[in-house]
Amino acid sequence: MIPEQMPSANMTVGRFAPSPTGPLHTGSLVAAVGSYAMAKRYRGLWLLRMEDLDTPRVVPGMADDILRTLEALGFAWDGGIIRQSDRTDAYQAALERLLASGDVYPCGCSRAEIARAATAPHDGEGEVAYPNLCRNGLPPGKEARAYRVKVSHVPVTFRDLVLGEKRYDLASVCGDFVVKRADGLFAYQLAVVVDDAEQGANQVVRGADLLSSTPRQIHLQRLLGFETPVYCHLPLVTGPGGAKLSKRDNALSLDSGRNLAADGGGLLLAALRFLGQQPPPSMSGASCREILAWAADAFDPALIPTVPSSLPFSP
Ligand code: GLU
Repeated sequence: MIPEQMPSANMTVGRFAPSPTGPLHTGSLVAAVGSYAMAKRYRGLWLLRMEDLDTPRVVPGMADDILRTLEALGFAWDGGIIRQSDRTDAYQAALERLLASGDVYPCGCSRAEIARAATAPHDGEGEVAYPNLCRNGLPPGKEARAYRVKVSHVPVTFRDLVLGEKRYDLASVCGDFVVKRADGLFAYQLAVVVDDAEQGANQVVRGADLLSSTPRQIHLQRLLGFETPVYCHLPLVTGPGGAKLSKRDNALSLDSGRNLAADGGGLLLAALRFLGQQPPPSMSGASCREILAWAADAFDPALIPTVPSSLPFSP
């Protein structure tokens, strides 16, 4: 889908890419506000992509629920909406390019086999680095289940706008990682890279839970000859005192019982304050559109905090 307004060579193109696995929640509200404000701050485009690729996790009706919530909060996106479920051909074409260049190979390992063969300790996220068992060809008797991309010990480095310089040794962190899953679905890492390139996204603003995905995506961008966007990872939203948020407290949609006509402005202001911004007192009681217009003028990425906290909103 081509945005109605074609980006010029140096125009900022940001995007918001929710997964319709549940209603919009506080974390995705912060990602929506942050990505919108950052794109509009630079007079850029803000695109919307529905990440409905992981069909077993998609909840019917949630894509529309998210869109209605965004509209009720005054958001307007540029161009049409990309849906990953429509884009299998593009992911397959990228996979074939990577197979042809020898960067991707079929893997016949089950999770249990990988866990048994892994010698390296797991990283903090409990991830086992794939011990590259199928890298030099499927061992006899094994059938292709998934497809993996080769990684090396050469560090992937990037500068995150909020978190600063980052450096990852992918061979130690995850090893050769999956780009097409054993259930036949394309992996998030490949889909995002293909979609960001096709949409011309050059600014990726999203939650810090995705930080460890970024070096994997940069690795794929380089193999596929795509530009690397600017990255900006936003702090995670917790409950008060660092507690985990319950699904119920977290949900923000109209169908979850929120009165967005009354609370929408307060939610946007809470998200902006959470992101370190200082909307003036005159914004209290302003409409959602007015608050987003203020953010588009005044949002300052230098104020975004690096640490998780709760959303300063009391419904
Ligand atoms: N779909 C992902 C999520 O909802 C976001 C992916 C991205 O922004 O790259 O967590």
